[in-house]
Amino acid sequence: MTQKILGLLGGMSWESTAHYYAQINRHVRDVRGGLHSARLLLHSVDFAPIADMQRRADWAAAAQLLGEAGRGLAAAGAGALLICTNTMHKVAGPIEDMAGIPLLHIADPTIAALQAAGVARVGLLGTRFTMEDDFYRARLCSAGLQVCVPDTDDRAQLHRVIFEELCQGQLHEASRLRLLAMVASLRASGAEAVILGCTEIAMLLTQDATDMPLYDTTRLHADAAAAWLLD
Ligand code: GLU
Repeated sequence: MTQKILGLLGGMSWESTAHYYAQINRHVRDVRGGLHSARLLLHSVDFAPIADMQRRADWAAAAQLLGEAGRGLAAAGAGALLICTNTMHKVAGPIEDMAGIPLLHIADPTIAALQAAGVARVGLLGTRFTMEDDFYRARLCSAGLQVCVPDTDDRAQLHRVIFEELCQGQLHEASRLRLLAMVASLRASGAEAVILGCTEIAMLLTQDATDMPLYDTTRLHADAAAAWLLD
């Protein structure tokens, strides 16, 4: 059976998009075997101007840019769209509308996994936008989850680590320890699990470092994408 084609909006940052590409292909190979791989179209953006739009809160411009890219992927044959970043799901609605094909939302496979594990209260790590704005937390809350985030100082530190280190491919032990301390604080506030709600965090913090269950959105989103391709 011929596979469908999935369109990826990537490059935010390219460091994490590379993990998406590898994981989707690995999943398809594991299921189909042999030389099988994923039928993907990738539009990888220049992240600097988009990060600038985020800083200026010009979300309409970011939605326009990514919506046009999504429309291009649809015209090239993609049957569904993946936005390879949590943060840009702030404008998931307009992007999906402009592209005119279904979007596989990054929060949904994480919600399904948390519900399957019976988690009620979850910690959320991500950019300032993901931790503080409503677009992401509201989706989790409307699925019946209670969400807690790090305190103001930790949120600022994490945001800095994401943009100044992880998105630039830098992995520092001091930052890894700081993230582990955030996981411990979230546990102290009653979290039973933690969402790695930024697609670069798993480059630095992996499950072997803690007994707190970690939900890696990159991995979960990539696996849901592969499942869509194989369906
Ligand atoms: N990849 C990150 C995320 O998952 C941050 C980069 C961005 O702002 O898009 O949120």
